[in-house]
Order: sequence, then C-alpha cells, then structure tokens
Amino acid sequence: MTEKKRIYIAYTGGTIGMKPSKNGFVPVEGYLSETIAGMPEFFHDDMPEFEIFEYNPLIDSANVSPEIWQLLAVDIQKRYHDFDGFIILHGTDTMSYTASALSFMFENLSKPVIITGAQIPLSKLRTDARINLLNSLYIAAYHPISEVCLFFNNSLFRGNRTTKQNADGFDAFISPNYPVLLKAGIEIKNIAGKQKRIINSRLNITEIKAQSIAILYIFPGLDCSVIDNLLKSPLKALVLLTYGVGNAQEDKLLLSILKTATDGGILIINCSQCLEGSVNMTDYATGSSLQAVGVVGCLDMTTESVIAKLYYLLSQDLPNNVVKELLSVDLRGELG
Ligand code: ASP
Repeated sequence: MTEKKRIYIAYTGGTIGMKPSKNGFVPVEGYLSETIAGMPEFFHDDMPEFEIFEYNPLIDSANVSPEIWQLLAVDIQKRYHDFDGFIILHGTDTMSYTASALSFMFENLSKPVIITGAQIPLSKLRTDARINLLNSLYIAAYHPISEVCLFFNNSLFRGNRTTKQNADGFDAFISPNYPVLLKAGIEIKNIAGKQKRIINSRLNITEIKAQSIAILYIFPGLDCSVIDNLLKSPLKALVLLTYGVGNAQEDKLLLSILKTATDGGILIINCSQCLEGSVNMTDYATGSSLQAVGVVGCLDMTTESVIAKLYYLLSQDLPNNVVKELLSVDLRGELG
C-alpha cells in the first residue's frame, strides 16, 4: 500500500469554524477540530492524513494584518518538509489579500498552499465548509498545484487573481482575468493548473510590512483638494481606481497635483474600477494624460494583488524606479 499523503491545516479563524452565539457567529477554540472529529467523511480511506493547528487567538479575517501573514509564512516554512501540502482556513473577507500576500512572500514554492473557508460554519446543516475543506484536502493530496491557491464553490483559483465578489452567495470568489486552475465536478478537471515536480529545496520567505499607501476611487466631480491633502500625508504610494482602461478626468489641477506627487517620489498606480480587462493608458487621451504625469499602470491585477505587491516591493527598500518597473512585471502569475 502506498503511503498516505499528509496535509497540514493552519486554522486562523473565520466563519468556517465559528459557533452561533447570542451576538452572532464567533470563533471558539477547539470547536472546528471537534466538529471535524465527528464527521466520518474526513477519515474516509481515500482521504489524506491531516493535522490541524489552531491559531491563538482565532480571528475574524477583518482583523488580519501583515504580522499574521508573516506568522503563516513562517509556520508553513517550518513544516514544509514534513507535509505534502498545506491548507489555510481563513475568513472570506480578506482571503484574497492573504492569498495575494503569501504568493509574493513565498519563493521556491513547489507544494500546494490552498486557502479556503466558508460562508456557513461547518457545524450548520447547509454548510459549504464541508465541500470546501474536503475538496481542498483531496486536491492538495492528489492534484497538487504548486502555488498559493484559493478553493471555493468547486473551483480552485490562482490566489493572487481572486477577489471576493459575493457577500452571501456560495460563489464568493471570482478570478476575473485568469481561468480557474481546477474545476471540481463529477471529476476534478484541470483547466489552467500546472503541477510541478516536488523539489525539496528551501522555501524562502520575504517578510512584508504594512506601508503607508492609500486607494482612491475616482468619480465625476471629485474634489481635487481631497487628493491634494491625501498626497500631503506621509504617503509612499497611491492607487487610483480609474474608469475603464485607466482613464480619469483631464482636470489641469488634478494632473498638476499628481505630477508634483510623482516628481516628489510618491508612486501613483493606475488600477481599473472594472474587474475584467487591463489598464492601457495609451487608448484614450484621458489615460495618456495620467501616464504623462508619471502614473504607472498595473495591467490586469486585482486591487488586492496591487496592495500585496506594493507591500512586498516597498518592504525591500528598492529604488523607486525599480519598484515602478516591477509593478508591471509578472512575478507570481499575478498579471498578464
Ligand atoms: N467575517 C468573516 C471573516 O472574514 C466572514 C467569513 O469568514 O466568511 O472572518
């Protein structure tokens, strides 16, 4: 008999393991492990072996921070050679941020890291947690895609391509600009996933720290003094969420405020309000005027991925021109 695959489960919190209380759902120590222990399907002969490590405290993912990403990365690095794959149980609210951040932090990843969670706790009758966790375990063991992935609603996505799109449906996540990696139907079908040979090389981590960055959603009638004030704060980067392929109002005052900021070393990134498609500042005059004042396009990256990539690049004290250049270079499959 071949040896069973071993999967490590890092349980950080989130709805998946929460318990109903009079104030709504709350994460409760030990509750998820107890619930799983009472579900025989997790111990079916065809399932891999798994070990659950519960973080303390368990959190709602709205409370996630770069420090927690670092804890997760180090935790996985420590156990890297003892397991065949890794699952992170996480709340859905910031799941795409964590998936994006970890994708940049890990280098030489040759085992699957799958982040999953649920819209309804595992202990409830109509839960989606059972299917999400069972499939994640099965895929991590038998269809390993060696990257940071996100599994939800029968799809395995590239983590840094995802965004939460539905607050209460089971289809909480989409990957607007990249195909799903695997689709779980009657069979588990490989669509765009790549399995690498497992190389037991050292898994490197780049620590990322929170940086002073901001996001601003452009809209008709936006008061330029708001942007001006924002840029006067100690900002390193401002992500402008623009129209369509990266357009904004051709307002002379706005453009001169942006130019002063980029000349002073603040990175201004052009990210589209549209989920699908790519920023291309040469399509319209309203985009090229942004390019002319030093704004950098981020192609088809999700906003979550732009934030994580900015954290990753700015944490390394790279010269500004290098950060600018790397923003539009594909580092972990996040763009293009
Ligand atoms: N607020 C919860 C969290 O992100 C929602 C969830 O788990 O789905 O932790």
